[in-house]
Amino acid sequence: MPVGALAVGRDVTQQRQTEEALRLAASVFHNSSEGVLVADAGGVIVSVNPAFTETTGYSEAEALGRKPSLLRSDRHGPEFYRAMWEALAAEGRWQGEIWNRRKGGEAYLEWLTINRIEDHAGNPVRYVSVFHDITETQRKDERIRHLAFHDALTGLPNRALMQDRLQHALERAKREGSRLSVTFIDLDRFKAINDGLGHDVGDMLLQEVAQRIRKRVRVMDTVARIGGDEFVVLMEELDKAGDCACLAQELIAEISRPLELRGHTVQVGATMGMAFYPEDGADSLELMKCADMAMYAAKAAGRNTYRFFRQEMLDRTSQRLELEMDLRRAIALHELELHYQPKVALVSLGAPPGVEALVRWRHPMRGMLPPGDFIPLAEECGLIVELGAWVLNEACRQAAEWQSRGLETRIAVNVSARQLADGDLAGHIAALTANHGIAPAVLEIELTESAVMANRETVARLLTRLREMGVTVAVDDFGTGYSSLAYLRCLPIDVLKIDRAFVMDADRNEEDAQIVKTIIALGQTLHLTVVAEGIETPRQAELLTALGCDVAQGFLFSRPLPAKEIEEWLSGLK
Ligand code: C2E
Ligand code: MG
Ligand code: MG
Repeated sequence: MPVGALAVGRDVTQQRQTEEALRLAASVFHNSSEGVLVADAGGVIVSVNPAFTETTGYSEAEALGRKPSLLRSDRHGPEFYRAMWEALAAEGRWQGEIWNRRKGGEAYLEWLTINRIEDHAGNPVRYVSVFHDITETQRKDERIRHLAFHDALTGLPNRALMQDRLQHALERAKREGSRLSVTFIDLDRFKAINDGLGHDVGDMLLQEVAQRIRKRVRVMDTVARIGGDEFVVLMEELDKAGDCACLAQELIAEISRPLELRGHTVQVGATMGMAFYPEDGADSLELMKCADMAMYAAKAAGRNTYRFFRQEMLDRTSQRLELEMDLRRAIALHELELHYQPKVALVSLGAPPGVEALVRWRHPMRGMLPPGDFIPLAEECGLIVELGAWVLNEACRQAAEWQSRGLETRIAVNVSARQLADGDLAGHIAALTANHGIAPAVLEIELTESAVMANRETVARLLTRLREMGVTVAVDDFGTGYSSLAYLRCLPIDVLKIDRAFVMDADRNEEDAQIVKTIIALGQTLHLTVVAEGIETPRQAELLTALGCDVAQGFLFSRPLPAKEIEEWLSGLK
């Protein structure tokens, strides 16, 4: 075969292969769901595919001979296109999101890849752009993003977005040396309305409050809802802290304006706390914490008011935290101990009245602390339950020890409201006394008037069970609370302890003497034993005896003493 024929044959095959590839390419080009635009080296459109027409609205005839700038939207500045051309020149390729405009005028977002095709010498001959419309996807993403960063009920930014905005605002404020404020707003009485009138009304109320806040602040301020009934306002470019105080007052007035919801006239109040950059903190978490703390201070001051953050608030909180940690440790390390104060019969009764167990904390650094220094804190942070359990157990252990030495005395233990609400106190006492081998009748429980009044149903059931077990029940600090006598009458109570505040001045102050007299009379009609607390002088003892009080307790007879010493005191009585 001549060499030429062979060469021609090969040429033909090659040509066929090329044509085949081109046909294939054309078919792909034609049928692709991606829009394709081919421009020449001068940027003039030389071909487009049907998907191009579908997306852009321009037919092939309308597109050919024009430049891709035909599609340009006004959403990118010149530097965007400059960067694109620079990338094409340097790397031969550009890829990214770009906003273009359809023939109808509507802007759309596309994901675009442009490749530069070169000849053998490396000169550009074609620019092939392949793209698809991602507007829809973007819209969905935006919706998702919106949902993730906004509160569904009010449409306000949520905590995450608030924190993000605060972060940026702080960066700006640092750069520009400006001031900003964070205001925490907590609604007063919201829970009562929500529970009382239903969650629908509660939701409507929150939406209305959100709008009222929005209306009062500037457009540039951020209002967020960060919890059930908690809102936050971020204000930038503040000149004076005073601006913020004025706003707070306006907001309180605005929020507490009555509103009409489903035929109910509803009114809520608002309590606010504010913190400022740079005065109170330099990072977002710190500022939020300060504003939150200021809000708690405002609440403590009586609600429907506002407070600026002050350093003392932080000091007090850290002291409290320290004490709380200390107290936890104290329980574990047995730093607590019980002292006992005897009760003395004024008129002779059957059984001797016994002793009251009073807890003390032998603090390694601060010495012996009275319960007033740590019981309120323990109540607040819930540690009282653990502490109370320790006290009960210790009292039972002591009773068993005394019993083994022939000393039979009733021990009264103070029980706080939290212990009543928490778990099965009667069951706990039954188990404890059984464990220590003592009769439950050795124990007396002292409950404050307010604890008895706070958990009426639980208390009624509990006291009945305690009575069945033989445990004596006393109402402590009587006269300081607001007991309903009708209610007290229905409860299985054995003892009333008149608060020291009335006993103290009863021999000098006629009004106090009258109160004491009334309580004693009341006790007698209800067949209760009446105990007078805080007897310090013989005169007080005489007066109370004359008034018919059964039992007295006070420094006149004995201070609270450690177990060993009280044991001697009790033996001396015999
Ligand atoms: P309380 O139950 O009313 O205890 C009587 C308090 O009055 C005791 O103070 C006692 O030391 C004091 N007192 C007794 N006689 C006199 C007196 O003649 N003059 C004066 N000025 N004071 C007298 P204490 O030990 O500081 O206890 C204070 C309160 O702490 C108790 O008041 C009780 O409410 C609470 N508390 C003590 N121990 C416990 C406990 O184990 N658990 C709970 N939950 N609370 C406890
Ligand atoms: Mg007591
Ligand atoms: Mg008392």
